[in-house]
Amino acid sequence: MREEVAAQVAELGHVGLATVLVGDDPASHIYIDLKQKAAQAAGMDARDIKLPGDTSEEELLETIAELNADDSVDGLLVQLPLPGHIAENRAIEAIAPAKDIDGIHPFNAGCLYLGRPTLVPGTPLGVMRMLDEYEIPLQGARAVVVGRSAIVGKPMAHLLLQRHATVTICHSRTRDLQWHTLEADVLVAAVGRTHVITPDMVKEGATVIDVGMNRGEGRKVLGDVDPAAGERAAYITPVPGGVGPMTIAMVMQNTVTAARAHRVRGVAHAGN
Ligand code: NAP
Repeated sequence: MREEVAAQVAELGHVGLATVLVGDDPASHIYIDLKQKAAQAAGMDARDIKLPGDTSEEELLETIAELNADDSVDGLLVQLPLPGHIAENRAIEAIAPAKDIDGIHPFNAGCLYLGRPTLVPGTPLGVMRMLDEYEIPLQGARAVVVGRSAIVGKPMAHLLLQRHATVTICHSRTRDLQWHTLEADVLVAAVGRTHVITPDMVKEGATVIDVGMNRGEGRKVLGDVDPAAGERAAYITPVPGGVGPMTIAMVMQNTVTAARAHRVRGVAHAGN
């Protein structure tokens, strides 16, 4: 994926990404640094905007508006979570949908819901790419997504539905989770609880995607799925090293997709 993105950037000549981070949440700093490094490695023009934790909502909205209007910026990403005094929804809604490479603006979420081509969050997009790479059959397959967040679970379920899987979404109030997961040909765990999916919850021969990134002892990163489930599964993604790096690669791919669309809009405007 990294090579594919770099080749597309070289072909386009210029692809601009801007990341905005407010405050000093350590995990957010790590994520931003990873994205910045990936963008630079792909040959993008990467702008790294770091604002102090006491930045007001108005100041953040002004920064977003400037980046929306900046023609050299194709993709714009505001790292979540934002400090408590800033309304996250207002910040998300301020991002120009065409530059929303995290696919979190309600316009893009709505397009995904309607099954229209759009910018989709990197994590579920990366999962789909992995399923395709390994030619996992989806049409008519039973897919179970555990988790219903706006950034992972819901878009994941919609993408699987678009590919004609029969999709069940489970969450914290689901009764008898194991009954559902044992039905899954494709099981996606996006819960945020270490090893909540145990081997006896996995169907023999299933494809298991572990989105979870949980901090264990000694800051070790642990998934939502007990790795011993690999003995029952036909395929299982590792944690770390599976969905995480794919997510970053797909955000880069989204930036290239946004840049292509930006060119088309630019040409259309010039023609008017
Ligand atoms: P989130 O917003 O906290 O959502 C978690 C979901 O899991 C919720 O829908 C919740 O149900 C459900 N849940 C909680 N406990 C459950 C249980 N015991 N049984 C069944 N469902 C349960 O988390 P998120 O942002 O989707 O992230 C999920 C995990 O993926 C986290 O570990 C996160 O760090 C990781 N993640 C990784 C990447 C990556 O790049 N690898 C990207 C994003 C997230 P309710 O809705 O009922 O509360």
